[in-house]
Amino acid sequence: MARRQESARGSMPLKELLISKESKAMASFGVRDLDTMLRFAPRRYVVPAPLRSLREIHQGEEVSAIVEVESVHDRAMRSRYGFLLEVSVTDGTESLPLTFFLTKQRQVDWHRGRLPIGALILVRGTVGYDDYRKALQLTHPDYEPVEDTDEGRAWAQRPRPVYPLKQNIAQGTMRSATEKGLEYAGSLSRTVPEEVITRRGLPSLEEAVRLVHVPLTTEDTRRGMAHLRYEEAFILQSVFAQRRAQDERTPAPVLSADGPLQGLFDERLPFELTAGQREIGDELAARIAHGHPTSALLQGDVGSGKTVVALRAMLRAVDSGHQAALLAPTEVLAEQHHRTLTTLLGELARAGQLDAHPEATRVRLLTGSQRTSRRRETLLDVTSGQAGIVVGTHALLTESVGFASLGLVVIDEQHRFGVDHRRRLRAKGPSGQSPHVIVMTATPIPRTAALATVGDLDVLTLRESPGRRAGVTSFVVHEKLPAWEQRMWQRAAEEIAAGRQVFVVCARIDEDEADAPAPPLLDEDGTERTPALEPARGVHQSALRIAERPELAGARIGILHGRLSAEEKQHVMKQMVDGEIDLLVSTTVIEVGVDVPNASVMIVLDAERFGVSQLHQLRGRVGRAEHPGIAFFDTSAVVGQEHSQHLQRIADAADGFELAELDLRRRGAGDLVGEEQSGLQRTLKHLDVLRDSRAIEQAREDAFAVVASDPELTAHPALAGAIEDRLRDADPDVERS
Ligand code: ADP
Ligand code: MG
Repeated sequence: MARRQESARGSMPLKELLISKESKAMASFGVRDLDTMLRFAPRRYVVPAPLRSLREIHQGEEVSAIVEVESVHDRAMRSRYGFLLEVSVTDGTESLPLTFFLTKQRQVDWHRGRLPIGALILVRGTVGYDDYRKALQLTHPDYEPVEDTDEGRAWAQRPRPVYPLKQNIAQGTMRSATEKGLEYAGSLSRTVPEEVITRRGLPSLEEAVRLVHVPLTTEDTRRGMAHLRYEEAFILQSVFAQRRAQDERTPAPVLSADGPLQGLFDERLPFELTAGQREIGDELAARIAHGHPTSALLQGDVGSGKTVVALRAMLRAVDSGHQAALLAPTEVLAEQHHRTLTTLLGELARAGQLDAHPEATRVRLLTGSQRTSRRRETLLDVTSGQAGIVVGTHALLTESVGFASLGLVVIDEQHRFGVDHRRRLRAKGPSGQSPHVIVMTATPIPRTAALATVGDLDVLTLRESPGRRAGVTSFVVHEKLPAWEQRMWQRAAEEIAAGRQVFVVCARIDEDEADAPAPPLLDEDGTERTPALEPARGVHQSALRIAERPELAGARIGILHGRLSAEEKQHVMKQMVDGEIDLLVSTTVIEVGVDVPNASVMIVLDAERFGVSQLHQLRGRVGRAEHPGIAFFDTSAVVGQEHSQHLQRIADAADGFELAELDLRRRGAGDLVGEEQSGLQRTLKHLDVLRDSRAIEQAREDAFAVVASDPELTAHPALAGAIEDRLRDADPDVERS
């Protein structure tokens, strides 16, 4: 589908308001019509320096003053090409020269036209010193006409918007274009119902855009922005409300059977379920028993026991005569999940074999790299329904794998998948029904952040962990400080000597290849900065260097990365699980979910290259059983530098919830649910999912009420239009609903 760029329905095109150079420049950053222009918010405001008397000013200061024009002179400059315009102004206490160096006669004329003798102007600038005349002066100050009244003074002190612009348009041009647009604010499309605006105590849309673009006070900007933020939240929540409403009209398999597999499985479990696991298990059971598709986000920190919860729901699907699929982001993880499920289920997973339980089902693994004969056999089990549970990668969704009766899909690690993948599942269930979907994530997010980003999912949170985990302590290690590095490898060697195992993770496979850039850091005001770094270390070279370290002499070292064949990968993982490798050097193929209970050390080289949730996942690979884990975030950044401070904050964060907030503050909501995630949350314009939690909660309540009473939004055409524009902005290629 082509990317359409036309105006929101009915909104005044900027061509009618501005000269074409300006409207083209604005189009380059998405400002296409009156509606987008007046909702294009300043990045910040500059508050002018307090008004001063000219008697009180000093060299180097920023000043604002209301002054009268006394005299204006211009002359051609002798030493340079151009003109010097000198304006003398006074405020009754002192006189001050304003100096302009101009290249063209018409610029001189333009200033002269705006500076008649006796005119009152507001000047703003930095006080300079004229060595020749030994006097203070302002060079190229900003000025504008002003009245010396209370109103005039308030006007002079108003905050000036600074827009997030590109090079092709000036701030002044943007300001005056916007001010011109404000005259037509009455024709803006009104997305939020009047009644809601009044009830929530917000300024009307017309007033809000005026407050945002021409505020008199900082409080004005806050009130104006409150409307725009609310409006954005309201549109977003209306999308979620509509999706929910659509789910309520879509049929799904009823997964309500209570046994026998679920009961048999619970009896088999070598541990007691935690209260949280039971509670969430019950909630999921209630939801999937409902004849409409559930979309749930099951979140819980690494090791909180999500897999068991999901497996119990899958067994409920099988007990109800349907199938369940478990999708993992990589083949390695799919294989591991397959092993975990078959181990947990034991004889319950061995249908067709001699030692099977009479109620057993089959758990099948389906991956792209399986041999054809094996695959054919598996596919047969999937289509015939013999396989109650199928484990695979997301290829299971895209390939035309025909399930006999797919009732439930569990997706592991949503941050690699993209929540929107679940839309592909529509009609994949029996006789065109939609299967239920549970997405599992180990990167929990704060409640309102979840509402603003995955607001069409039911969020279920596992807060406690089973408690068998010894936990992990994290340290930042600076490569530039050899004593620290040596201590790190020494610790690794000690753990190996004690019979434990070590993971070493690198940012890339080979140092001879192009280096991936480190992720940028964001400043307070959102500007990106990427401090210089050493090139990242590679798996191959690191393995060689580690092998040469005297501390680690004799350690059995393995390597693992995405370029090995599936068999090789499987072989290496098996060796690691069986304890035949002491130290595994790998890329992030082991990032999520890999379970080696005996591993106790995680060393991440060039840790600043990894995202917050990646690092949390990685350290979650150790300390999984009774041995306490140690994670080392090794960086080439120097002590105290931003990357190093950032890593230290991650090392210090207690759990996934704290980290999620850290991540949000650092990267903004855009990346909340992962790099491959396209969609709504990428394009939040005014909302900050942490700061604006109240607006988000209120907008959700209001939007769900509006959609409940008018699902097609026939009485709210402006809202329906805004939703469509929003979805198109978010992802031009995604199908709707
Ligand atoms: P997650 O997927 O949330 O990271 P897992 O489901 O992989 O966590 O569980 C981590 C480990 O804890 C697994 O070895 C699992 O068998 C075990 N486990 C799960 N629930 C319990 C429980 N209630 N008591 C003890 N151990 C548990
Ligand atoms: Mg897991």
